[in-house]
Amino acid sequence: MSSREGIGMTSMRTRERLVRRLQEQGIRAPAVLGRIRDVPRHLFMDEALASRAYEDTALPIGLGQTISQPYVVARMTEALIEAGAPEKVLEVGTGCGYQTAVLAPLVGKVFSVEYLKPLLRKARQNVAALSLYNVRYRQGDGWQGWSKYAPYDGIIVAAAPELIPTALLEQLADGGRMVLPVGPPRNQRLMRITRTDNDYRQEDLGGVSFVPLVRST
Ligand code: SAH
Repeated sequence: MSSREGIGMTSMRTRERLVRRLQEQGIRAPAVLGRIRDVPRHLFMDEALASRAYEDTALPIGLGQTISQPYVVARMTEALIEAGAPEKVLEVGTGCGYQTAVLAPLVGKVFSVEYLKPLLRKARQNVAALSLYNVRYRQGDGWQGWSKYAPYDGIIVAAAPELIPTALLEQLADGGRMVLPVGPPRNQRLMRITRTDNDYRQEDLGGVSFVPLVRST
């Protein structure tokens, strides 16, 4: 059950079905669809749930968190890379590392911040098991970003703040783009922010549902 190729409900055929479904829902970027097909999502979750890994739904990964829905991962990744692959990307909310694994080969380097240590440990293992090494991890509060490696050409956030964290706006490079959910539970919008000097253009990409971005300070 836990092999990379997968059998039965984790087989290539099952994954291809998920890819077709995302295409029908408007995901176009071949690179993104390729990653959804190639990343073995079943290896990121408990074996008990592996048979559901290629359903287009969020699923529990413990500690009250969820692995992101494939459609949402695809949509966010596409929105991030549309205008060209960013070199340095900050990811907030590593979770089990599924989004990280989808993203890593499409960009130069990923800097990923997660505040729950046990999840970060699992994510590291999951991502390394796929031989992806252009990722640096940090346990910490993503609300603060990761100033050490700023500025970032791209920022992707997997949990929803009620307001866009100032630190993230500051750590976005000139010409960079940030994709994140914003708003209170049950009323979140997926936003894309593009920075030009100190002008931040906002685009609304639609309604979404994420766990809240916890504020630890
Ligand atoms: N993209 C992940 C799922 C992320 S779920 C995947 O594909 O599996 C959102 C994650 O954000 C959770 O793991 C949660 O612990 C983390 N999180 C929430 N608030 C945070 C904060 N302030 N700083 C860092 N991580 C945070």
